[in-house]
Parts: sequence; structure tokens; C-alpha cells
Amino acid sequence: MKYTLGVDIGGTNVAVGIIDENYDVIIKDSFKTNAPRSAQEICDDIISTYQSLSERAGIPVEEITEIGIACPGIIKDGVVVSASNLKFTNVPLKAIVEEKTGLKCEVCNDANAVALAEYIVLKDENIHSLVAVTIGTGIGGGIVIDGKIIDGFNGAGAELGHITVEKDGRSCACGNKGCLEAYCSASALVKDTKKAMIDHPDSKLWEICNDINAVDGKTVFKAAELGDSISQEVLKSFLNYLSIGVINLITLLQPEILCIGGGMSKEKEALIEPLKKLVNENSLTKNLTDKTTIKTAVLFNDAGLVGAAAYLKNK
Ligand SMILES: [Zn+2]
Repeated sequence: MKYTLGVDIGGTNVAVGIIDENYDVIIKDSFKTNAPRSAQEICDDIISTYQSLSERAGIPVEEITEIGIACPGIIKDGVVVSASNLKFTNVPLKAIVEEKTGLKCEVCNDANAVALAEYIVLKDENIHSLVAVTIGTGIGGGIVIDGKIIDGFNGAGAELGHITVEKDGRSCACGNKGCLEAYCSASALVKDTKKAMIDHPDSKLWEICNDINAVDGKTVFKAAELGDSISQEVLKSFLNYLSIGVINLITLLQPEILCIGGGMSKEKEALIEPLKKLVNENSLTKNLTDKTTIKTAVLFNDAGLVGAAAYLKNK
């Protein structure tokens, strides 16, 4: 049997997994990225990790024939053009890994890998298009049409966190204003939750979390469920901006599936149901029965690994 090595390089950890032909992760492990480090050093750790994984899983190392890597940043033809959290600029990652391992390697953007993984696991030949919006510390995303990642001529496409949802709005880490990420990332929601707590000392938010420094993306969902009107207002604004982003994506692409991934998707129905309602009330296709299915992503931590492996086959 042939296996693929999936690698997901994150700002904190690098995950490495052996993946079979059905895109099942057989075994995986991770090591600390310790950024900034050179791609060569990271590659050495990838090699020692996969050698130990192949031993542990009893898979001969010769049966691992390819390496798919998911990496943050702008990726073009195997070169990491820019990845700020790794401090990579024009790093020829594909060439470095191929030279060190002797195996075929492909590199794709990590958020695009997540979208491809969500598409692959559907295993449904009637589904041709999928958009994934991943909401975590920041917002990422990916567009897959007929099994291909759509990322623009320069590899900088599908940065869904940076579509504008408010003209001259909040400043975003990218340097622009009014980006979706500045309103709907987990960090933005935490900031809004803390502000609501300071402005409203009587809010149930204080019962859920009496230490304001311990507020996380779940806090406001919990208090809203208890009927706290302040929390419901915070969520209303959050969902309103998220729906603007989602409506724009659906209007542009009309994908069969739009899935929400990342840590925030663990809120499941509390996030998806009101989002669906807003999108359905305000989009061009509101009167059609044939419309985009909005759902939560199915893969969590393994999405980058699976998507990186799938990218080798779907490039
Ligand atoms: Zn931005």
C-alpha cells in the first residue's frame, strides 16, 4: 500500500501524519514550531517525526511516497512567498523538502487545505463546490471548485477573513479597515465580550466568567443561552457581520456547501442556525429552494493534514 505524509505547519505546532489512500489519518504526532526557524531545520524535524511514526505504525518508510504540506501565508508553486508568523519570505519549501527527503512534495496554504479536506471527506460526486470559512484567532478560508483550490494567479486568493464588511470600519491586522476578521474572529468576539462586561456590570457574563481575563469565545454564547440580553446583543452584531461575509461569498460563488470551521464551529447550532436565518432573509437566493447548504465543518484538527495530502492528488 502507498501512504502520503501530511504535514500541517502552524505558528505554534507542526503536525505530521501518515495518511492512507482513503484519506484516513493512520497515526500522527506533532512538534513545536519554535518560529522563527529555518525551513531546513523544520524539515529535519519533519523527517525524524515521520521516521518514528512509520516505526510506531509498522509502516515501512518506503511505502510513504509523497509529502503534502499545509503552511500559512501566500504560497505559489511550492514557494512560501510570505508567511508572517513563520517569518518566511520567498522560502522554496517544496524544493527544500524534495531535496532532503527524495520524495515528491507539494505545498498549499493551510486554510485552502482545510477547504479541500472538507470537500474530499464528503465523498459525494454530486457536490462540485465548497467554501470553508475557518473562525479561530483569525479568520481563514478556502474555495474549492471541481476538486481544485481557487487561490488566484498569485496564490493570495481566498483570504476570506479580509473581505470588507464595513467601510472605514475597525482596523485589521492586515493593515486595512473593516475586514470580516476584525469583527468575527474569536479574538474580536472576546474583545467585544470584555467591553460588554465593563459597560454592563450587571450582565450575566460576570456569572459565567468572574475573571475578565479568562473570557474566551464561548463565554458570550453561554451567557446568551441563559437569556442575558447584553450577550445576545454582542452575538447579534457578531452574527450580523458574519452573515454579510457569508452572503457575499454565496452571492459570488453559489457553492453547494458553505462550511464554518475552526474553533468557533464547536458552537454548532448556536452559531449555524441564526447565521442560516440571517443569510436566508437577506440574500439573493432567499426565494429559491435550491440554495447553498450552510453547515459546520466535520474535520477539526486533522483537516490541515488531510487537505495537504489531498492537494497532491488534486493539484
Ligand atoms: Zn484584514
